[in-house]
Amino acid sequence: MRLSIPNLIQEAERCVACGLCLPHCPTYKKTGSEADSPRGRIQLMRAVAQDILPNNERFKAHMDLCLSCRSCESACPNNVAYGSLIDSARALFVPKKNRLAAWARPFIRSRKLMNVAVRLLRLTQQLGLDKLGAGIGATKLLPKLKKPVNWQTTYPSLAANKQGEVSLFLACASQTLDSDTLAASIHVLNALGFDVQVPAQQTCCGSIARQMGDVAESDALLARNRASFASGLPILTVASGCGAGLADYLTSHQVQDISAFLANCDWSKLTLKPLPQRVFVQDPCTLRNGQKSHAAVYALLKKIPQAEVIALSGNGQCCGGAGAYMLTQSDMAQQLLNDKLASIKAQQVSLLATSNIGCSLHIARGLAAKNATVQLRHPVQIVAAQLGWTAS
Ligand code: SF4
Ligand code: SF4
Repeated sequence: MRLSIPNLIQEAERCVACGLCLPHCPTYKKTGSEADSPRGRIQLMRAVAQDILPNNERFKAHMDLCLSCRSCESACPNNVAYGSLIDSARALFVPKKNRLAAWARPFIRSRKLMNVAVRLLRLTQQLGLDKLGAGIGATKLLPKLKKPVNWQTTYPSLAANKQGEVSLFLACASQTLDSDTLAASIHVLNALGFDVQVPAQQTCCGSIARQMGDVAESDALLARNRASFASGLPILTVASGCGAGLADYLTSHQVQDISAFLANCDWSKLTLKPLPQRVFVQDPCTLRNGQKSHAAVYALLKKIPQAEVIALSGNGQCCGGAGAYMLTQSDMAQQLLNDKLASIKAQQVSLLATSNIGCSLHIARGLAAKNATVQLRHPVQIVAAQLGWTAS
């Protein structure tokens, strides 16, 4: 929820400065600086809101270094709404010049334009131009792009036992970079007896715009999604970064992570092929501290016979991906990624499940830099494969 200045001050004053959140804050652990801790940031926000401190570059730097991982919020005994505080501080105080670049907006808003961009980028990859220095900025982080999918608006289930109807959120990053997970989700939902609706007018969840303090843009995107999903069907998300943002700001709708929904379905009519191997799970912060439904991923994967489902050590700490953070705060993002890669190495992980495309891209880049051969999959892809689904 976004707060007004008086409400921000009131919420910040609920922090009793106990410091219990400090050991849970990745940026505090790395810098040792109070100003980069949740307690310190809350005091800074309050001081700026009360005109005690200036809204200057130093203040902004401490806000920008926050990952919005909300580990502090989960640890806080006083339930201080840190997520709302940081979103509001960014919206109220982050200088306008840092807001979402105007050139990026049309692509984020329009699936058609995004698909045109994907086709062009795919061509540069196929011609090898990306390796010749043609790749710029975020495009250097892109995995091998697939042909964009023209999603149908309905995927009816052919199962004899109909269980109901749901709607699926495509998300700009997922439909561009992770269409296999969307296809796998439709496959599993149909197999379980759910018709899947894919509203054509849906758009980006607005989380990146919000992270950059661009209130007008995130509100416009939310309004379009509110209208697109007016049917009242549950909205299932496959990227927890989008799911957490929609659940927080589209409160009139029932938003659920796909794994949380699937874990609670009736699986008695389906048979999953056994998977006799260890499946490690990385908990995205948006699932763990935002939607608080990370346990459902383990419950879902444990439905696969013989799969040994194990938590990746250090799961409480953000991987450093954090939406656009991996681009805007690359030093801290790399430090946190190194910790994640060390866990993967120490536990000899060969298959890692993650529910967020942002984490997946960030970790995949780190693994590639180390020539590590680890399969990174969305949990629903792993489940779908045991039902006979294959990636395109
Ligand atoms: S745990 Fe909560 S009350 Fe304590 S310092 Fe952190 S935010 Fe403030
Ligand atoms: S959201 Fe994460 S990085 Fe930001 S203050 Fe809280 S624990 Fe630290």
